[in-house]
Amino acid sequence: MKSNSSAGHAVVVGGSVAGLLAARALSTSFHQVTVFERDTFPAHTVARRGVPQGRQVHALLTRGAVGLDGLFPGFVDAMTAAGVPSGDGQADFSWFLDGHRMAGATSGLRGFGVSRPQIEEMIRDRVGALPNVTVVAGAQVDGLLVDDGRVAGARVRRHTGAEESVAADLVVDAAGRGSRALAWLREFGYPVPEHTAVRTNVVYVTRHYKQEPGLLDGRLGTTVVPYPGQPRAAVVVRQEGDRFAVLLAGLLGEEPPTDDAGMIDFVSGLAGQDAADVLRSAVPVDEAVKMRYPESTLNHFDRLDRHLGGFLVVGDALCSFNPIYGQGMTVAVMEAELLQSLLQEHGTQNLAPRFFASAAALLAEPWSLATGGDLRFPEVEGERGPQDAEINGYLDQFRAAAAVDPALGTAFLKVANLMAPVTSLLSPELMERVQRAGAQ
Ligand SMILES: Cc1cc2nc3c(=O)[nH]c(=O)nc-3n(C[C@H](O)[C@H](O)[C@H](O)COP(=O)(O)OP(=O)(O)OC[C@H]3O[C@@H](n4cnc5c(N)ncnc54)[C@H](O)[C@@H]3O)c2cc1C
Repeated sequence: MKSNSSAGHAVVVGGSVAGLLAARALSTSFHQVTVFERDTFPAHTVARRGVPQGRQVHALLTRGAVGLDGLFPGFVDAMTAAGVPSGDGQADFSWFLDGHRMAGATSGLRGFGVSRPQIEEMIRDRVGALPNVTVVAGAQVDGLLVDDGRVAGARVRRHTGAEESVAADLVVDAAGRGSRALAWLREFGYPVPEHTAVRTNVVYVTRHYKQEPGLLDGRLGTTVVPYPGQPRAAVVVRQEGDRFAVLLAGLLGEEPPTDDAGMIDFVSGLAGQDAADVLRSAVPVDEAVKMRYPESTLNHFDRLDRHLGGFLVVGDALCSFNPIYGQGMTVAVMEAELLQSLLQEHGTQNLAPRFFASAAALLAEPWSLATGGDLRFPEVEGERGPQDAEINGYLDQFRAAAAVDPALGTAFLKVANLMAPVTSLLSPELMERVQRAGAQ
């Protein structure tokens, strides 16, 4: 084992979306940032082993696109230049909420038909070009180095089998749901956080098809959202490479099949028929791929009374959401913005408790949005507040009313795209509109 010296060196574990974005945030305050990624990166824009969800449809929420454009100026234009289709999230998209088709309008929310490998590659190219960031592929972090109550670095093993100890002032764990952060904390005698889990047993199936002009009527895409009594979702979206991506999802025991006839059957009873049309007539370009996502998990690092100094956890390793809501990458963007601003305000002083407290505040909104949606299903176990039934009753009316009043649809999509808080749906003006639409 050899040892590197450190001077303002930060190490990031995992070179996926959250790790790369964390590196971008750290690059403004640290002399040198090294991202260690276990995988080797593919030569073409395809999914890789360490990110199996990369083969499934990923939505980039408007808040995520805005944030990426801030972290990497020109990012949105570069997506367009790379052939990523985009359009208005309401006017160019059909939405089916609780079986009702949302009324169309220009929302000003831009939606993108971008695949997960494409977005990761674009972020990686930009992070890799930062002069003080090195992205090392084929390098697994096996553990931490700890000295005097602080992180002192990481133990890294290369694909060749070579091992080294890398000195660092900060280690950021962005290793996703398989993160070993808790085991590492235990190893050094540190307390591990409690966690909250909400189990929905989501099953995803994605397949890609050649785009055909006659399908989707020129729209960017369509989404049929699951709801109590109909735990199935269907999404069709135009993507770069002249493809349609079709996603079928089931929750709570519903399982989309992967054969042609079964997939058509799965969507034939749903409110929107775009997915069925594509499945019946478009030409597939790959095999259908299935993935299971048992539960959303939130680790409460903010509640720890003792932190390992200089050790942070971000992205899915910190909080992982039911993918139906499309929040993971956007939240990783928001965490990177947070990390950058905390470092700019007070440097690395007390960074771990400051970061985890602020991240908990940041996560509260998307977590309550996602788990609030999950807890509408009576089968889902979890804590329900005394006012939930009343609020859910109103939101049921809201979704139905959005079929009549397009302003309600816009307000709903702003919340879903993390551009407005859930509480904005409870404003007196919108409540009145819901009542008026209900009376029609
Ligand atoms: C089915 C599914 C659908 C989803 N859909 C959406 C969506 O529509 N929109 C959205 O925004 N998000 C979605 N997500 C979430 C999104 O994929 C993640 O939030 C996003 O990839 C960020 O995750 P991450 O970077 O924290 O972790 P990951 O993407 O899981 O990456 C972890 C990385 O760490 C590496 N690694 C692990 N251990 C080590 C180690 N010891 N040393 C070095 N490297 C290591 C892995 O190889 C991998 O590259 C979905 C997730 C799933 C499962």
